[in-house]
Amino acid sequence: MEIIFLGTGGGRWVTITQKINTGGFRIHASKNMHIDPGPGALVALQKANISPLSTDAMLISHCHPDHYTDAEVLIEAMTHGMTKQKGVLACSESVLVGKDNLGPAISRYHQSKIRKLEILKPGEESNIYDIKVEALPTRHSDSTTVGLKFHTECGILTYTSDTEYFEGISKHYSGSRIMILNAIRPKSDRIPWHLCVDDAIKIIREVKPELAILNHFGMKMLGIANAEARRAEKETGIRTISAKDGARVAISEGRIKC
Ligand SMILES: [Zn+2]
Repeated sequence: MEIIFLGTGGGRWVTITQKINTGGFRIHASKNMHIDPGPGALVALQKANISPLSTDAMLISHCHPDHYTDAEVLIEAMTHGMTKQKGVLACSESVLVGKDNLGPAISRYHQSKIRKLEILKPGEESNIYDIKVEALPTRHSDSTTVGLKFHTECGILTYTSDTEYFEGISKHYSGSRIMILNAIRPKSDRIPWHLCVDDAIKIIREVKPELAILNHFGMKMLGIANAEARRAEKETGIRTISAKDGARVAISEGRIKC
């Protein structure tokens, strides 16, 4: 199994300026899943030499542009140019039907060609082909945002998506072998609705995964993400890296290579 980081940026200023890419990441296992295809996902796929046509499923955690903007074009790829009823699309309620002043982000036309459409709600689980995926609760400005817990053949992989730290958050991530944490700001430089690295450290310490990956960097993380990952590793004793555009993490039952 492999995780491919297409874009590791997040937040509005990195997204607007594209200092780093914001195309989300992929999990290539028995099927290929694209998670949170923000702006630049298609360009990043091209750079990574991955055909968008190889996409079997797409998961979108919430309805903010740095997580969804390339989704419709990826649906066109997943359905072979809208000629086939194909693929799985699993999203927060806001992305598929809209919630408050957000969304929907996917047109009815694009939704109509998907073979299996699912709304992900915290506490519920769904099967994306042979992979069980649990939707986890968050505290984010899109109230329907979900974290994701993938039960794969190589163990449990979790993704926080955008959330702020809240009491009890870590228990939802129990059993994680690999955690991807969206830490938009360094140190204790907290902004509402998001994790900073000190929050991520608290979660990593409580969950104790084999590998933690910091991801989704805002402006203040640029240039220091590596150092922040090293600090997190030192403070937690858990192997921690910062995601990089184009980086791949290979996972087998026995080892994780990054
Ligand atoms: Zn967000």
